[in-house]
Amino acid sequence: MKHIITNNFEETQKLGEHFAQQLRGGEVVALYGNLGSGKTTFMQGLAHGLGIKRDIISPTFIIMRTYEIKEKGKSVKGEVLKNLYHVDLYRIESEDDVESLGLLEPLNQPENIVAIEWPDKIENILPEKRIDIYFEYLEGDKRQITIG
Ligand code: ADP
Ligand code: MG
Repeated sequence: MKHIITNNFEETQKLGEHFAQQLRGGEVVALYGNLGSGKTTFMQGLAHGLGIKRDIISPTFIIMRTYEIKEKGKSVKGEVLKNLYHVDLYRIESEDDVESLGLLEPLNQPENIVAIEWPDKIENILPEKRIDIYFEYLEGDKRQITIG
């Protein structure tokens, strides 16, 4: 467990960007924490760290956004990273919705990275092999981020 305190949104983006460097493909990243705790802000940095130039907007209303990764030669076992899936389950009512929407199909494919906000909503069907990150609101612009 690593606890980090960030003092403003830029520091949280930087942390996401730095975290992206350890991703090799096939990871599932679960982002826990209340509204406004910094999950999407972290994702902006993470996407940037993967070489994604598009703006990262919260997928709250559409549940999932797909970003193509065209990173400078980022590859594992000869496989080039293909897509970053950014999922936001805030509006999901049940695990059945997630299954019927096919939201979990990109999981655990070696060429994809899947990051999920509000993963607690599907705790029974979340893959066990994943990286958990917890976001906590401290006072003002401070956030505590725990990478498990
Ligand atoms: P979430 O996705 O968890 O609901 P967002 O990342 O969308 O949260 O929103 C976080 C909000 O808090 C943004 O408006 C951001 O600018 C602001 N903010 C202030 N300080 C921080 C910080 N240290 N880390 C992340 N966001 C911060
Ligand atoms: Mg969000």
